[in-house]
Amino acid sequence: MRRPLVAGNWKMNGNLKSIHALVEELKRGIDQVGEVDVAVMPPFVYIPEVTRLLKDSRIAVGAQNMSRHAAGAFTGEVSGEMLKEFGCRYAIIGHSERRANYGETDEKAARKVVGVKERGLIPILCVGETLMEHERGNTYGVVKRQVDAVLDFFGVEMFRGTVIAYEPVWAIGTGKTATPEIAQSVHSFIRDRLAERNEAIANEVRIIYGGSVKASNAAALFAMPDIDGGLVGGASLDAREFLSICKAAAQ
Ligand code: PEP
Repeated sequence: MRRPLVAGNWKMNGNLKSIHALVEELKRGIDQVGEVDVAVMPPFVYIPEVTRLLKDSRIAVGAQNMSRHAAGAFTGEVSGEMLKEFGCRYAIIGHSERRANYGETDEKAARKVVGVKERGLIPILCVGETLMEHERGNTYGVVKRQVDAVLDFFGVEMFRGTVIAYEPVWAIGTGKTATPEIAQSVHSFIRDRLAERNEAIANEVRIIYGGSVKASNAAALFAMPDIDGGLVGGASLDAREFLSICKAAAQ
């Protein structure tokens, strides 16, 4: 049995006041959420404050990105050691916004997955096709290329303990969601791809869905056999909405 994971990607949103209010409401509500791992990914500067506020809580903290390097002349970057020092457990890698706006290629994302694992953190590797690729019927080809970048260079072992987030780019922040059937079909394709190399790892790996997940559509998505939770953007900034999504994953 794979334990579901719901991760909230706050992106570049919030301020000290709003983040305090959000975390306090999450802490109050988390006791009503069943068996599911829950994590939030604040902007880097707020990570120390959020880990402090969540010290005795089961809500984990992660980062939205991470340098693959341990230390050195990498202006503007943050290392895994730094994230660990402030209590992070997860790091999102290869988010479509980083691929589109910051030149994160398949190869860079794959190398970062290795870096995250070497630091003892859990990578959440994002994959997914753009609207144009979707309309051209190239969803599976794109996802295969993105997964294979890790598989071919570093081997299937890299996926032990790694989380994969299938996030169709056309569904991120648009209010459009992949139907549960479409998402299930891509998740099962990814799992089959891993199973060709190692069935045990394929069965263990958590594949979560992202793209306009809300309280109103979460239950139908999470009911699918290969959807093991969600990566939630906009709705993770609203505590009640996010907690409802967590509850849906626990069922
Ligand atoms: C995301 O940014 O990973 C995401 C899924 O965003 P949203 O839920 O807002 O579509």
